[in-house]
Amino acid sequence: MLFSQSCGLNCLIFAILLCVFLTGNHGMTVNTDTNVLPFPWDKMRLPETVKPQHYELLIHPNLTSLTYTGVVQILIEVEQDTRAIILHSKNLQISKAQLLESRHHRDLQTSEFEANEQIALFADGFTFEKGNHLVYLEFYANLSDSFHGFYKGRYTTNSGEVRMLASTQFEATHARAAFPCFDEPAFKANFTIRVHREPRHISISNMPKLRTVELADGLLEDRFDTTVKMSTYLVAFIVCDFHSISKKSQHGVEISVYTVPEKISQAEYALNTAVTLLDFYDDYFDIPYPLPKHDLAAIPDFQSGAMENWGLSTYRESGLLFDPEKSSSSDKLGITKVIAHELAHQWFGNLVTMQWWNDLWLNEGFAKFMEYVSVNITHPELQVDDYFLEKCFTAMSVDSLVSSHPISTPVENPAEISEMFDDVSYRKGACILNMLRDFLTPEAFKYGIIDYLKRHSYQNTVNAHLWESLTNICTSDGLDSGRLKLDGFCSRSRAESPASKWFMEDSVDVRAIMDTWTLQEGFPLVTVEVKGQEVILKQERYLKGEKSSKSSSTSSFLWQVPLTYITSHSSAVQRFLLKSEKDVLYLSEKVEWIKFNVDLRGYYIVHYESGGWDALITQLQQNHTVFSSNDRASLIHDIFQLVSIEKVPLDKALNLSLYLSKESEIMPVTQGFNELVPLYKLMEKRNMEELENQMKGHLVKLFKTLIDRQHWSDDGSVSERMLRNYLLLFACVRRYPSCVVNASERFQKWKESDGKLWLPADVSLVVYTEGARTDEGWDFLLEKYKRSASPSEKWMIKAALAYTPLTHKLQWLLERSLEGEIMKTQDLPSLVVTVSKNPKGFKLAWEFMKTNWGKLVKKFDLGSSAISRMAVGVTDQYSTREMLDEVQAFFSSLAEDQGSGLRSIQQALEKIQQNILWMDRNVPLLKAWLDMQSVQD
Ligand SMILES: [Zn+2]
Repeated sequence: MLFSQSCGLNCLIFAILLCVFLTGNHGMTVNTDTNVLPFPWDKMRLPETVKPQHYELLIHPNLTSLTYTGVVQILIEVEQDTRAIILHSKNLQISKAQLLESRHHRDLQTSEFEANEQIALFADGFTFEKGNHLVYLEFYANLSDSFHGFYKGRYTTNSGEVRMLASTQFEATHARAAFPCFDEPAFKANFTIRVHREPRHISISNMPKLRTVELADGLLEDRFDTTVKMSTYLVAFIVCDFHSISKKSQHGVEISVYTVPEKISQAEYALNTAVTLLDFYDDYFDIPYPLPKHDLAAIPDFQSGAMENWGLSTYRESGLLFDPEKSSSSDKLGITKVIAHELAHQWFGNLVTMQWWNDLWLNEGFAKFMEYVSVNITHPELQVDDYFLEKCFTAMSVDSLVSSHPISTPVENPAEISEMFDDVSYRKGACILNMLRDFLTPEAFKYGIIDYLKRHSYQNTVNAHLWESLTNICTSDGLDSGRLKLDGFCSRSRAESPASKWFMEDSVDVRAIMDTWTLQEGFPLVTVEVKGQEVILKQERYLKGEKSSKSSSTSSFLWQVPLTYITSHSSAVQRFLLKSEKDVLYLSEKVEWIKFNVDLRGYYIVHYESGGWDALITQLQQNHTVFSSNDRASLIHDIFQLVSIEKVPLDKALNLSLYLSKESEIMPVTQGFNELVPLYKLMEKRNMEELENQMKGHLVKLFKTLIDRQHWSDDGSVSERMLRNYLLLFACVRRYPSCVVNASERFQKWKESDGKLWLPADVSLVVYTEGARTDEGWDFLLEKYKRSASPSEKWMIKAALAYTPLTHKLQWLLERSLEGEIMKTQDLPSLVVTVSKNPKGFKLAWEFMKTNWGKLVKKFDLGSSAISRMAVGVTDQYSTREMLDEVQAFFSSLAEDQGSGLRSIQQALEKIQQNILWMDRNVPLLKAWLDMQSVQD
């Protein structure tokens, strides 16, 4: 071990503390025996009458013993006399508690209520009177073994040395596991942080370091400037040996990227991107970033993608580090988007925070949405707009289930709060904001959100605050009216702007519209029937697998749907606000076809009755470019959703997909794959090889022309490059001869050069995947994986290793990832899901998840997206009753603290039921259709 030298006074303190702890003597001032007095508070939420104002926090991690000590002094404002102060604390040993009073320090007793992660501070016969008080607490704990709280991390240098670090991840409810605090987003306060460290380390935190003081025992104390008013979940501190590079933004903010020393050469892209994006947001929001610096740190062990801590955002290494030689175009897009997301949070979330986690979407929906708004302007070459609609399709796939939930959902305990970090909060949130922007016009929307941010800076909000700011934008007094008048926006909007007709009406009630999208789950299916110049419109909830349009589970739902449409006679976007269950609109002339939800800017799907689909299919066959690529992708998406509810027969949907043989744009192609590939994935689970192979053969044939056009290089636009990667991977996995020959030749040459031969980044994954099919190739790739310093390359090799048909290798991968030495545990959730999609691995992944469920929950936390994605991802292509029974039996055997009540388990079960239903209804039709296709050849 690296950190074996003497650790001085710090170790001594720990030795003493440990003795005290082991003998059960917690000192004179502390009483943690909950039997003595009942805990004075029985609610999950803290009392509202005690508010923290300022924390002075000292943290001292020891990277040898992997423990830490801390001292926190909290200035609190008591609004109502109370006998006890209730605050959060989890797995911390409190060794001293005092009330600091001007004349003397009063010892306090502490009592802990573990179930609610709270402690109470009190003294016999004493009342905390209305006014300010200063509470002093000393505490210690182990650095966490998980990925949240104050947790330990490790990395190995090129020479094989193992180095430790300690970093934080507090969102949503883990600040309490690092220091005692009022750990709810509305308890905003200022934080003054100090960190003790050894000279060989550095420390970073939310604010710039003011100075470093030498301590008597050879340690150093870093003192950081006091933060602005902020929520506890945004506090961050890291002790490590990282290096950094820095640059000043145009607005004068010092931006730095931190990483382990050997990867510093991969930090430059992130630095430049962060500078560009922070400047963009400064201008766009018209509110300067309020801190003097922003650090971006790549953390070797990190569970989620990134975290927006104010002034110190943290990332997975693969989410921040870009290697110009080895990273692919999708890596570049991903890194740019994740930085755009975390920097958008500095305003949405950090400056203005949701009151409580039920409105998490105000943070996450906005950040997700702003990724597209900002990157589209700052990095047009990435064509980020091409990928927005995929977010909406993903959101719809969970939102179409009975187990979905409204965007704003009451939550109370930590597991429920963690479950809010899902596709509904992020993706549906982003999609309905995009719909609202299209409805209000981008200009009006922008002024509305500026008003919202300015009005509520350093405060907390609920949905209604946002809708208020977006209504009556021009009469708002919160905005700089001079600025609005100056660019003539308000005088222009009524007469000349392309604003929708509703915007020009005085009665636009943004809240009434948006409440229908945020307070009820699901989304509408709009049915369209054209009769001459009359268009009859109907809406109902789209519920997967639900046949009748009049079922009790769908009939009580009603939305205000901002419809848009184009026709065969006019590509100008027309608008209509559908408020009732049924309505009629009139066309100025008769048309051949009509297409609603233009470019998929709305969050709804459309069914065309009475020959409406036939006309669209004919147009796609004759000339598909009449529709935008987003419209083509949305037609593919919608028609297959309609098959699930038996509104459209499968053969009609398959007939529509035939036009794909002429398609070349990434979104319609990938959407075609998204709808068609699952058909044979479901068959894989049912032992119906003949039909499965027929379907696979059909798909290869459908995309043959496009596959043949691909070449093995990094040329072209980002979309073209990503599509190439996608198509070649599909072709090789399906053993398409020319692809297999090309990929194996390249792999052989690469292997002979001992990995020194340069491979185009966008086809590397295809080449590695081909190599990983044999034991020898797989072992060679593993050696390269171990030695690679590029997170992008590592990610590609790991994916290739998991695509192998060699079962024993898959088992090895899963076990090593759980252990965490060679394969990092942070990647385990995505690995388990990848293995489960492998025809040779789906049983293995399920057995592995079942056997290790307890360990996984402990490591990744109940309700976390890692656990949810595993539960759903491993099982969502199961298609038999036996599998359903097995999954049901396992999950229902779990205790509540092991996740029996998780929403993701309901989703998993519902998806399997849908698959069974789909197969039972459609297999004969699919077989007949495929037979007919082969006859026509
Ligand atoms: Zn976020």
